[in-house]
Amino acid sequence: MGSLVYGECKCGYKKERMCLGGGMDSFETVANFPYYCKTCEEVVMHNTFMKPAICSCGQLMVRYDDPTLSKPKSEVPSEVFNWNFGGSEKLVLTENGYLCPKCKEYTLEWCPGGCWD
Ligand SMILES: [Zn+2]
Ligand SMILES: [Zn+2]
Repeated sequence: MGSLVYGECKCGYKKERMCLGGGMDSFETVANFPYYCKTCEEVVMHNTFMKPAICSCGQLMVRYDDPTLSKPKSEVPSEVFNWNFGGSEKLVLTENGYLCPKCKEYTLEWCPGGCWD
């Protein structure tokens, strides 16, 4: 049910095998999604149902579908990941460039890596 997604930036930063979304029996309580922690300079996986999203370092994190964390590359970007949770709320990652936590450029890209349940 969930998706495996990789994050990769041309500066060398890599985020391997993130299990996004939720499993068959946990989709009502678990919706994993990448967040940006500016203190750790890292992409951090966090369960979207747990609000607010606080990193283990104490920093409030920004969810990666926040408009400030990506720059459009094309007008209608393909979706790399799409997850419906809690009714109308949606989590989407596209092929756009996202803010890299290391080099702070909009060159972080998400790549699909298969499914998990
Ligand atoms: Zn942190
Ligand atoms: Zn980078």
